[in-house]
Amino acid sequence: MNAPSATRQARDADAAPGRCPCGERGARPVLVSRRKRFQVVECLFCGLKRTDPPPYRSVGESRDLYDEADASKNGPGEATALRHAARNIGHLERLLSRRAGRLLDVGCGNGHHLAVAREHGWTVEGVEMDARRAARAREVFGLFVVQGAFEEAAARIEGRFDAVLMSNILEHLVDPVGALRAVAGLLAPGGMAYVDVPNFASARVLILGGNTPHLEPREHLWQFEPATLAALARRAGLRPAAVETRRFNRWSWRETRAAASLSGGMRRAANGLALSALSTAADVAGDMLYNSRRGNGDYIIMAAGRDPAARREAGGA
Ligand SMILES: [Zn+2]
Repeated sequence: MNAPSATRQARDADAAPGRCPCGERGARPVLVSRRKRFQVVECLFCGLKRTDPPPYRSVGESRDLYDEADASKNGPGEATALRHAARNIGHLERLLSRRAGRLLDVGCGNGHHLAVAREHGWTVEGVEMDARRAARAREVFGLFVVQGAFEEAAARIEGRFDAVLMSNILEHLVDPVGALRAVAGLLAPGGMAYVDVPNFASARVLILGGNTPHLEPREHLWQFEPATLAALARRAGLRPAAVETRRFNRWSWRETRAAASLSGGMRRAANGLALSALSTAADVAGDMLYNSRRGNGDYIIMAAGRDPAARREAGGA
């Protein structure tokens, strides 16, 4: 646990993860994890869900947390990172019906998405909060990367983009509406934002509850569903053109064991030789439950352009 920093809290006084971006303070719990000591609460007004207690309350606190996380754990291997990036860029090109142009990656990390997109023919640049990751993206891939938290760095980004990518970023941001508004401001005429986030309405969350790995209560402020993600985009002056859900990967044995341990009698079996059989069974069950049209895939992908009506209200800004 990180000690809150008084100065940093004061700097970000306007952004408040303890309440909903719609302004409503009232919320009701929809998932309680006693073991992991967190809950997910739902806004009484707009239905957006958030982790309670919030893992951090300011951009500064989140930077401290990710500095710590970066030092303590290894990311996915290079091949895995590139494979995920290729899958995401493929979704982006299909949803945006575009295969080239200027592309900005918000939270570009080590630069894998940008490297793949550049190979496809995009002209690319990135924004990254973490100085070490930004440096790696520059050194390993020769990318142009603006370093800083997007909330602060957006104003330093020059030009307009045909595509702005935000992959697994929005759920971490203290002010998600402000960030999406900044994204809208960075879009060229006809440009589109592509956002993906974990799906709280997924079959995995339904089955595993608080043990679902992608809830990440120590990192994720917001827990989105397709409808609440689209509503947040509209609030920020974007018009969603497509919202879909996708399955992330097959069930891991840890997830299988977590599911099995929900019923005490199965725990011993799950810990023993039956593990691989159970894993396969859970996977088959998952296949039957997963149905993108029901919106219960592991993560949500959304394409959204600027809403012309919102632009008029903002005085053409
Ligand atoms: Zn709300």
